[in-house]
Amino acid sequence: MSTNTLIPLNRNAAEFISKPKKMLINGKWVEALSGETSQTYNPATGEVITSVAKGGKEDIDRAVNAARKAFEEGPWPKLKPNERAKLLLKLADLLDENAEEIAHLETLENGRSVKFSSAMAPNAAGHFRYYAGWATRLTGETIPTSRPGDVFNYTRREPIGVCGAINPWNGPFMAAVMKLAAPLSTGNTVVLKPASETPLGTLRLGELIQEAGFPDGVVNIVTGPGSTLGNALTLHPEVDKIAFTGSTDVGKQIMKNCAETIKKVTLELGGKSAHIIFADADYEVALKNAANAIFMNSGQVCFAGSRLFVEGKIYDKFVADLADYAKTYKLGNGFDPDTILGPVISAKQKQSVLNYIDIGQSEGAEVITGGDAAEDGLIQGYYVKPTVLGNVRNDMKIAQDEIFGPVVAAIPFHSVEEVIEMANKSIYGLGGGICTTDVRKAHKVAHAMRTGNVWVNTYSLVDPASPFGGYKQSGIGRENGSAAIDAYTEIKNVWINLD
Ligand code: NAD
Repeated sequence: MSTNTLIPLNRNAAEFISKPKKMLINGKWVEALSGETSQTYNPATGEVITSVAKGGKEDIDRAVNAARKAFEEGPWPKLKPNERAKLLLKLADLLDENAEEIAHLETLENGRSVKFSSAMAPNAAGHFRYYAGWATRLTGETIPTSRPGDVFNYTRREPIGVCGAINPWNGPFMAAVMKLAAPLSTGNTVVLKPASETPLGTLRLGELIQEAGFPDGVVNIVTGPGSTLGNALTLHPEVDKIAFTGSTDVGKQIMKNCAETIKKVTLELGGKSAHIIFADADYEVALKNAANAIFMNSGQVCFAGSRLFVEGKIYDKFVADLADYAKTYKLGNGFDPDTILGPVISAKQKQSVLNYIDIGQSEGAEVITGGDAAEDGLIQGYYVKPTVLGNVRNDMKIAQDEIFGPVVAAIPFHSVEEVIEMANKSIYGLGGGICTTDVRKAHKVAHAMRTGNVWVNTYSLVDPASPFGGYKQSGIGRENGSAAIDAYTEIKNVWINLD
């Protein structure tokens, strides 16, 4: 373990967590009506960070009422588009100004190395700037119809209304940004529920939203357990749309709840993404991509390249080299300047990942590296060593279930047809990777993969302009790009009789 001194916590972040955190409802910071609180924990140490309001169903009612009022009576949906854009741009500037604090809050509550969380605020600012641009570009169509007489037919894009948003813990700050930028640019109001493990960055974003000058009730943030709050939000008759990011199991429950009032629903769910390494790939690029695709954020990435398909003739060497590569990742507290891999989010998640490694071994997989919890000195936090499992078949549980930890299942293949068939044999279809120097093969395989995102000779690139989402049980709809504008607007068709 490193003996480095940890990077000291940013002063504003320290000040932020020094007080119990409240919820943002109708422009005010309020306690839960029940007065209850819960605690958040630093996954690197297991220590309490701070206490947070534990909202209940009645707090969801307050927040939804505020969002409804802001939508029906408030200036927000009727505000001139350039006024909405101006506020989004102001928020982006505030994110840049508070970048270090935001990075530190993410590392504190999620565990991710500061090296990587430092990119968070600039990315978030870029996201708000991109959607600020959309606010003034929400045009409709004029449609030449074939009806008799003289009619003028056109469409308008209108906001959907009150949007409920529910987020996971694995990339909490960017998840919050992605649940706000597109709906706000299109004139919706939002009730946002972060994961109970990671509410802090989202609450700080709420403060910056207020500082930017967004009207009261346009953004409301309610903290507390998913089972009660999430249920109340998804069943609430005054909520018009739900945007959920999280596990496929909870996504199924949310779809059922939304059916009650036919809410619009977008779901960003789990994945078990195939990463295909052909023997003709640039070997060093492929090795680096394969490692980063699974181990970043300790494997807690929805599109992690967790099923690694390696062409038979290079399989043994590639898997051995990947294991050596994995050993070079420094595991530790995210505030250690040398750390590449932080902890997983909780003791429960750590146990779940370790259980999967045991299951894999009982199925006949071989642990090439990793496989166990932590190095000496890291035992208090929730650490799992980067793990490479060899000798894996695609039908094993470890190749089909989303483990959501730093564990890669390496599977050999012998032809393009075979690997496409195996890659598509999954209930999921979120991400996917291909490493090859044959451009025709790259396109052919990319087109054949039943998955929402494919990276060729790279992995994990995302951009606010580029649609992101899943096929099959990885979700419904897309975030980012113009697809998110579709997801947050209704199209109204107007007929005018000109005769
Ligand atoms: P989770 O499904 O357990 O929880 C997600 C959110 O749902 C949390 O805020 C939780 O409190 C809430 N929730 C729990 N029960 C609920 C219910 N009955 N009704 C409504 N809300 C409820 O997921 P997690 O463990 O926080 O996150 C990990 C999962 O998220 C993984 O499956 C991962 O793949 C997925 N994920 C997907 C994407 C994507 O874009 N596709 C991105 C990040 C994470």
